Amino acid sequence: MSAPASTSSAETSARAALAWCHSARFLVTASQLGQLPASDCPEIAFVGRSNAGKSTAVNRLAQQRRLAFASRTPGRTQHINLFAVGPKDAPDTLWADLPGYGYAAVERGAKLRWQEVMADYLATRAQLAGMVLMIDSRLGFTPLDRQLLEFVAPRVHSGEVRLVTLLTKADKLNRREAQQALTAAQEVLGPHAAEPADVSVTLFSALSRQGVDDVAQTLHAWAEAHRNAKAQPADPAAAAGPDEAPAASPEGAA
Ligand code: GDP
Repeated sequence: MSAPASTSSAETSARAALAWCHSARFLVTASQLGQLPASDCPEIAFVGRSNAGKSTAVNRLAQQRRLAFASRTPGRTQHINLFAVGPKDAPDTLWADLPGYGYAAVERGAKLRWQEVMADYLATRAQLAGMVLMIDSRLGFTPLDRQLLEFVAPRVHSGEVRLVTLLTKADKLNRREAQQALTAAQEVLGPHAAEPADVSVTLFSALSRQGVDDVAQTLHAWAEAHRNAKAQPADPAAAAGPDEAPAASPEGAA
């Protein structure tokens, strides 16, 4: 109740974004793409290697202790867990918590099956509007992370799927290591970041809260942009748009 009269607009928008994230509630769990709901809400997928800090990050963003806990309970680890976000009676976005990959103890057949489900989800799910990729800041991109990025890359390049990469557990790095982690991630992401792609990377710590407000605002802005884009066809000028598809940027431009 002690907010100063001169609350900045940045603070206000962070607060609105956090409130939006806080509204996240469990919706449904699916072990196959066919079990996902046919809603027309945009989806934001949370993906990352097992132990990258994904559950902790999702809980931190939602400011809830156990929201993403279901993903870790036996039997639910290899499911896509969907959360509804936005007004109670009319969610505007779904968060899709995808199973962590690369966990050594998972039997090979199950691992392959899951990689396929994830690849399918990322490459084909029409509702997918954004992806939050969790990379342990001390490990950087592993071959599996790069593989996963490739599944979704065409849709990232076209701007259809936005991407933010969180370099997690950043509290474990000193300033110099943090800068190195950022630079290394930017090198991996560079080839994916040409216009019209929306690609960013940020240091993140659920422990220190570094990056939490920014990421909440990014996701909130994605949801708003999606809503606005959907509303636009009512505007005749916007509906006409012959210039909707800019020429694909030539490979190797970076
Ligand atoms: P997931 O398998 O990707 O869901 O990873 P978890 O969220 O379960 O986190 C894996 C481990 O990393 C746990 O021991 C967490 O306590 C730890 N962890 C997660 N986020 C942070 C963080 O921001 N800072 C630190 N120091 N540890 C973290």
